[in-house]
Amino acid sequence: MTAQKTKPPSTPHRPSQGNRDFRNRAKRSEMQPDDQKNIPRRAPQAGVVTAQPAILLKAGREKSLLRRHPWIFSGAVERVDGAPASGDTLPVRSTQGEFLAWAAYNAGSQITARVWSWREEETINAEFFRSRINAALAARDALNLSTRHNKLTTVRPEPVEGHDRSPSVGLAQASTGSARTESLLLNADNNSVRLIHAESDGLPGLVVDQYGDVLVIQIGSAGAERWRDTCADILQQLCNPVCIYERSDSDSRTLEGLELRNGVLRGMLPDNVEVVEHGLRFKVDVAAGQKTGFYLDQRDNRALTETLARDKDVLNCFCYTGGFSLYALRGGAKSVLSIDASEEALQLAQRNVELNGLNAARMEWQCADVFAALRKLRDQNRKFDLIILDPPKFAPTAAFAEKAARGYKDINLLGFKLLRPGGLLFTYSCSGGISEDLFQKIIAGAALDAGVDAQIVHKLHASADHPVLLSFPEGAYLKGLVLRVGL
Ligand code: SAH
Repeated sequence: MTAQKTKPPSTPHRPSQGNRDFRNRAKRSEMQPDDQKNIPRRAPQAGVVTAQPAILLKAGREKSLLRRHPWIFSGAVERVDGAPASGDTLPVRSTQGEFLAWAAYNAGSQITARVWSWREEETINAEFFRSRINAALAARDALNLSTRHNKLTTVRPEPVEGHDRSPSVGLAQASTGSARTESLLLNADNNSVRLIHAESDGLPGLVVDQYGDVLVIQIGSAGAERWRDTCADILQQLCNPVCIYERSDSDSRTLEGLELRNGVLRGMLPDNVEVVEHGLRFKVDVAAGQKTGFYLDQRDNRALTETLARDKDVLNCFCYTGGFSLYALRGGAKSVLSIDASEEALQLAQRNVELNGLNAARMEWQCADVFAALRKLRDQNRKFDLIILDPPKFAPTAAFAEKAARGYKDINLLGFKLLRPGGLLFTYSCSGGISEDLFQKIIAGAALDAGVDAQIVHKLHASADHPVLLSFPEGAYLKGLVLRVGL
């Protein structure tokens, strides 16, 4: 997994429309009020150029929007009227002038616009974001994923004049220190959750992860960038964290024509940020770790590994800060060999073993390239009972699928060869450009070439705080298979 494991794939942008262009536009847009109203809604006549900023689609290209897919690719756009800046909210219309959606425009991306709302009567303003963020938090509550105190989630806002309403989640009390500790998670077993999962929560480009009383926000689109401060204010009110930290420093931002940013947005970052997950503690490097610091999407899959690890020799490839390794150890593994290319991640992983009082003597760590390390293990004739392969994103988009397929086949073939009969392979792909079907075919090819028969015993996905919108299958980026070798 790369730094952007959880973000839906972006497509390559046009380099000619680089950052300079975007910065100029951004300056102009700063002068607009935060609560800007949508652009006036007068429908243009078919084929008539109008000064009203709007996106007009090519004939027949409204189909994906009618199916509520939230991306408008540049190839579908007939013309952009007016002189909108990146981040502006524009109406999207069919060639007949029919309203289709309100969407955030980005001149510098192949995804020309991302839909905020399908309702013509909606105004994209602070209230809109408050309502979407509230809905995302409420969904976590409803699915028992929330880290917030149940009692407080029932407190409803007292509407007051204007947009500056009271927050809705027990935040009337949140200004005092003691209320803060009540308003944020205090479940002893889990203190971390993905609060907002971008497109899948109706907020394209906005990811928010909660690690205890710290929120980490990641912005991946021009539209979300425009509303960054509004969203930070709302999150501060609703969740009252000690810090909102921004990790908008993934490469995919460059594809959107956005500058990289990494720093505190609100409050102060504590020296020590810790995730508690199913009762296991992990230190998280919010400022310099990968992605937003931790891979919450594997939470439930790690727990499954624990249940199958007893008395096994385990190999955890791409181990990062030790996630699967610690679970395997707690599950009674005989030995765990963990491999990662990042020295910093491995150091944190070893501290995490200590933090949990687990038996470090059963752990072996290797700082190495997994592709080479697997070959070495094969040459040494090492064998394992349970192997985890959780690599970085090899294919951000379908354009990289072929090359990525070779990478997946290579490590899985070697993985199969290193397993004892009856052994289990936990294999994952977080590549948006590789479908579930294709992934299974690649694994089937790897098993064939390795000369093993294998059964699928589990099909795995990201945890439920990473929901997938039915109309946005790209949200299902993480797929996993658990295979048992030898019939
Ligand atoms: N399974 C982990 C997350 C893995 S993230 C968890 O549950 O937390 C992917 C990891 O792969 C990162 O830690 C990264 O440092 C590592 N990585 C990327 N390319 C690598 C390579 N070629 N060899 C070894 N590690 C690699």
